[in-house]
Amino acid sequence: MSNSPILVTRSSMPPLEEFVREIEPLWESHWLTNMGEKHHQLERSLKEYLGVENIALFTNGHSALECVFEAMGLHGKVITTPYTFASTTHAIVRKGLTPVFADIRPDDYTLDPGLIEDLIDEDTCAIVPVHVYGNLCDVDAIQDIADRHGLKVIYDAAHAFGVRRGDVSSASFGDASMFSFHATKVFNTIEGGAVCFRDPGLRDLLNQWKNFGITGPEDVEYVGGNAKMNEFCAAMGICNLRHLDDEIAKRRVVAERYWEHLDGVAGIRVCRPKEGTTSNYAYLPVVFEDEFGSTRDDVYMALKREGVFSRKYFYPLITDFACYRGRFDSSSTPVAAHVADRVLTLPMYADLPLDEVDHICRVTLGLSKR
Ligand SMILES: *Cc1c(COP(=O)(O)O)cnc(C)c1O
Repeated sequence: MSNSPILVTRSSMPPLEEFVREIEPLWESHWLTNMGEKHHQLERSLKEYLGVENIALFTNGHSALECVFEAMGLHGKVITTPYTFASTTHAIVRKGLTPVFADIRPDDYTLDPGLIEDLIDEDTCAIVPVHVYGNLCDVDAIQDIADRHGLKVIYDAAHAFGVRRGDVSSASFGDASMFSFHATKVFNTIEGGAVCFRDPGLRDLLNQWKNFGITGPEDVEYVGGNAKMNEFCAAMGICNLRHLDDEIAKRRVVAERYWEHLDGVAGIRVCRPKEGTTSNYAYLPVVFEDEFGSTRDDVYMALKREGVFSRKYFYPLITDFACYRGRFDSSSTPVAAHVADRVLTLPMYADLPLDEVDHICRVTLGLSKR
């Protein structure tokens, strides 16, 4: 086993020569950003990979989410999950919308569709669920509710790139899905993001909004922002996409090894892909129930002493953030609060050696008091 620290993730990178080959034409064109050749090429490749008609690229996933809320003209309340990364809720709040938190399901930690309808009132405009850890939400039940109440559905699919149900990609559900291509995600463009959307009428809006609302050489129609993906990031994406299926296959071997050790142990809950879905093995969340005998924090510290840096992801719950304290109440989402207090995501990346996985599991299981 190596003596260097094991971090929770490690960014996928193509061979250096491949990236150099990809960026070489930029020294000819001197076109570095503003929807250049690499940008268009990545858009085309992603449409094909995801099997979607409509996509817009962004400088990061968070801007993509803010932009799609704005382009859709949302106002009022949005039903969402507190069990997510800061970005989801921040995007809602920063766009002047009011988040209304529904609890999550205890098995896959996604928004519980059974709890959504009671929270809908005349001010509700949309549902913003998260395919957390790459676990697909109950997209059919959510769509059914949205259709009955005339609501938009925008998925935070930041974790779900490459996930499919049957042969339908995670990009195809709801009115729009946001992906993050941040360095820590399964597919990265260093920093980057995208929105896949159903209504082709959104394309111009999204592309103008990410470029200051400029609609023509002498026209600025919207008060837009700036969130364009540059050519170097697009080139990184083009390269990484070529290797993605191999990377996911390697992640799968790592995940299976963890589950061999941990699944079925008293007091330990792991998340395995559901029947009929193809996972991207983005994260390795483990929930330590009281029955395990040691707490999540005990495991976190024991691993840290071994040079293994796991992450309390997601803890604290969004509703307990200092910036939201007093405005929201985590007691209204008890399942999310329970999971946030007990979850640890273990190191997970394509090149994580299996003997390190064995070691991590040995340290973890050594804390079982059963
Ligand atoms: C990473 C992430 C985002 C934000 O993506 P960036 O590309 O980092 O802006 C949003 N939501 C979730 C759930 C994420 O994990």
